[in-house]
Amino acid sequence: MAFKPANNIQDLQYFGEFGGVNPSISDSSTYTFLSAKTMFDTFEGNADGCYLYSRHSSPSNLYLGEALAAMEGTETANVTASGMGAITPVIMQLCDAGDHVVSSRTIYGGTYAFLKNFTPRFNIETSFVDITKLDVVEAAIKPNTKILYCESVSNPLLEVADIAGLAKLAKKYNLKLVVDNTFSPLSISPAKLGADVVIHSLTKFINGSSDTVAGVVCGTQEFINDLRNVNDGACMLLGSTMDSLRSASVLKNLRTLHIRMQQHSHNASYLASKFEADGLKTVYPGLASHPSHELFKSMMNDKYGFGGMLTIDVESIDKANALMEMMQHKNLGYLAVSLGFYKTLFSAPGSSTSSEIPEDEQKEMGLSDGLIRFSIGLDADIERTYNVMRSCMEELSILDKRKQTELA
Ligand code: PLP
Repeated sequence: MAFKPANNIQDLQYFGEFGGVNPSISDSSTYTFLSAKTMFDTFEGNADGCYLYSRHSSPSNLYLGEALAAMEGTETANVTASGMGAITPVIMQLCDAGDHVVSSRTIYGGTYAFLKNFTPRFNIETSFVDITKLDVVEAAIKPNTKILYCESVSNPLLEVADIAGLAKLAKKYNLKLVVDNTFSPLSISPAKLGADVVIHSLTKFINGSSDTVAGVVCGTQEFINDLRNVNDGACMLLGSTMDSLRSASVLKNLRTLHIRMQQHSHNASYLASKFEADGLKTVYPGLASHPSHELFKSMMNDKYGFGGMLTIDVESIDKANALMEMMQHKNLGYLAVSLGFYKTLFSAPGSSTSSEIPEDEQKEMGLSDGLIRFSIGLDADIERTYNVMRSCMEELSILDKRKQTELA
């Protein structure tokens, strides 16, 4: 039977302690025991169903973790206080001093900065490569490589990783394939394609209300146990624990993710086609012109579309800034970083979320000054949104009115 990520979430049943339809929130940092022996066994990880201390685990965090594991098709998951709080312990858990990582060069700026500037302090080096070229990825693997790291759909360039192809390489060289699936929840299920570890910044589409910073690591029971180990587990010891009140609220939002993703994808697909037809340089995995359109299609869970993220290139930072300010003024969305909100969010990644990447490297990877990244919102009337966006672009001479008449 086909893997159905949203059904897997819906099929879970958790009740509150008084029969509430939502599980009770565990509002405690510590837990009491009737016997000292059970406390010892819990500390050693040998007492199922018992809780010791909420940095290690808590009922609310376990509920959310299990729902996200069901969505990604992994054995289990560990929720964290942020997306970076998921990414950094995974890398520190899998690498010792002297190890090496092969990473996509187009990834979220914070992850890039961690691998480029922070992990070298622990003698962990990273080679950044074009992840869309499997031969280039393979050539970068060294005897001390431990991790292949990528985003399913990359931030901000929307490059698409061939997860099954990368998983084959990971198997061949005994590496762990770690995939950040933040841009494509439900649409792509990396674990089903062979990823060993799947990470999300829950801050984005999954929570969807821009009120929380949160993350998750989905993987095998063995790996999640390793992360939580009281003696040498990176999640346990680095301490990026999610608060129970927050995990309860993310769990409630997760239940509508399938409906939201369909609307984000529908709206983004509509705008991307229109922008492209208007002659704008548009990148969206759902467009036939996207170099990895067929690859995305071959990996996707059909119903959820190609996601809510698209980019356009308006050729200069000045034009990009003017357009974003005007769009905000016309209430088309917000000039803001982050993604997955009900309102459209737009930013110029070169000077914001990817500013950690040096300018020459930005150029080399195709991250130009005039690039605007859009997280398309849940607008009920996307045609109206397009018409207002188009009038802004005409006013700023981003779209040439004459050319538009000719195209029409
Ligand atoms: N991964 C991706 C793809 C992101 O876009 C971000 C944040 O923008 C992160 C990870 C980091 O997540 P957080 O801000 O929740 O730590």
